Amino acid sequence: MKYLIVGAGPTGIGAALALNELGCSDYLMIDGQDIAGGLSSSFVDDAGFTWDLGGHVQFSHYEIFDEYMDKALGKEGWLNHQRESWVWMRDTFVPYPFQFNLHRLPPKERWDCVKGLFEASKAEPTKPSHFKEWAIATFGGGVTEHFFYPYNFKVWAHPLELMSYQWVGERVAVPDLAKVMEGVCLGEDQVSWGPNSTFRFPLRGGTGSIWRALAGFIPEENKKLGVRVVSVDPAGHTVTLDNGEVLAYEKLISTVPVDQFTELANLPQLSAESSQLLYSSTHVVGIGLEGQPAEPLETKCWMYFPEENCPFYRVTVFSNYSPNNTLAPGETWSLMAEVAQSPYKPVDQATVVEDVVQGMINAKLISPDDKILSKWYCFLDHGYPTPSVNRDSHINAVLPELEKFDIYSRGRFGAWKYEVSNQDHSFMQGWECAVRLLTGAGAEAEPTLHTPSAVNKQYNRRNPS
Ligand SMILES: Cc1cc2nc3c(=O)[nH]c(=O)nc-3n(C[C@H](O)[C@H](O)[C@H](O)COP(=O)(O)OP(=O)(O)OC[C@H]3O[C@@H](n4cnc5c(N)ncnc54)[C@H](O)[C@@H]3O)c2cc1C
Repeated sequence: MKYLIVGAGPTGIGAALALNELGCSDYLMIDGQDIAGGLSSSFVDDAGFTWDLGGHVQFSHYEIFDEYMDKALGKEGWLNHQRESWVWMRDTFVPYPFQFNLHRLPPKERWDCVKGLFEASKAEPTKPSHFKEWAIATFGGGVTEHFFYPYNFKVWAHPLELMSYQWVGERVAVPDLAKVMEGVCLGEDQVSWGPNSTFRFPLRGGTGSIWRALAGFIPEENKKLGVRVVSVDPAGHTVTLDNGEVLAYEKLISTVPVDQFTELANLPQLSAESSQLLYSSTHVVGIGLEGQPAEPLETKCWMYFPEENCPFYRVTVFSNYSPNNTLAPGETWSLMAEVAQSPYKPVDQATVVEDVVQGMINAKLISPDDKILSKWYCFLDHGYPTPSVNRDSHINAVLPELEKFDIYSRGRFGAWKYEVSNQDHSFMQGWECAVRLLTGAGAEAEPTLHTPSAVNKQYNRRNPS
């Protein structure tokens, strides 16, 4: 066959739909799982609660992506939400972005943060060598010490000294001092900011319903689920599946984590290089509850947790995304927590679910008397591709070498670029790669992969219909 796509997550589906749209039928998309969606899948637990693999929010830098979202679920298949994200610290909720809502902090910490921001604004500009230096230069010592460092260590599970900062782009609200002082002096919350200040979520079936629907547009003869690639012969242009079948291809689009792919392809030099790429694992814990959330959680979407009294860095009030995510809408509700792990931040898998429940009690999200109807758990070995200081040199040493074998490694862990690893980016990495291969265009046809910062500045629909 002409094109083999390994992986039926957003990247693989984007590639397959582009081939479809351009009239190419000589391709096959395969996946080791029985359902399409990859990390963007959803599951219903035994009690009847729906869970995503961590809190997934839709936002988009591409019209094509939005068109496919509408096509997937129709205009009626979505619920629109105002983003409400909060930081829980010092026993209170601070609206996000943290630096614009310092009035919520105790006076001493408020002053540390304001002082640090003024010092940072007056300092001579320097070129930071890592994420921590960037944080201090941007936010000053107070915000970094009280929030930024502890929170980001919990998310990334790596010392920030090992991480770059160039990926940050639009993701972190860099402070406007006037806005900071407005918050401090007027004591008013500033809650809406950034590219995902509104977002939409499937009415039914969680995030996975989008990808199952889109996979449905791919003809049956062009997809095969429940078959894993167990080895690749890059020179011979074949893959072997776990059922013993051997598939020959002309061009391969792989969305397998590139560190695993180079092992499957038995390319030791590239394996050595890709094994230097850092990543964190994610423990996802869903807690289904009887009744309805207490007043402070009634409208919240997700919350960040920088402190040590709970293991999670983020909790989503998943029943607020859609009441249909619960067993009995209106009578039950749900929280979904994410805990990051790496060699720098071990997590005890045997106790993580109970640790999460205790953490939710400590953070006053639930009370010890609340009736828990379900505890759902999932471990994602490859959760977050860490934007490490040396990431680009490692990934740039691997992807072009694979392309010499007609292998195009794309997607969240295929290309390992966190800044372009959301669903919209992943879908478009697959789409752009397929268009490039089909039209014979050069690397410029893949802006998402090659110029992430330009892509992240482009079109951004804030008010999806
Ligand atoms: C905790 C968490 C929170 C997230 N939050 C958001 C969010 O809010 N918004 C957002 O847009 N995105 C979010 N994402 C990112 C989103 O999940 C990804 O953008 C998307 O799923 C990546 O798509 P992909 O196709 O590149 O990779 P994946 O989804 O990982 O798909 C890869 C596929 O390849 C298959 N595969 C792997 N190896 C083999 C093999 N050997 N043989 C056959 N098949 C194989 C896998 O089974 C999988 O289905 C989040 C991710 C995580 C982990």
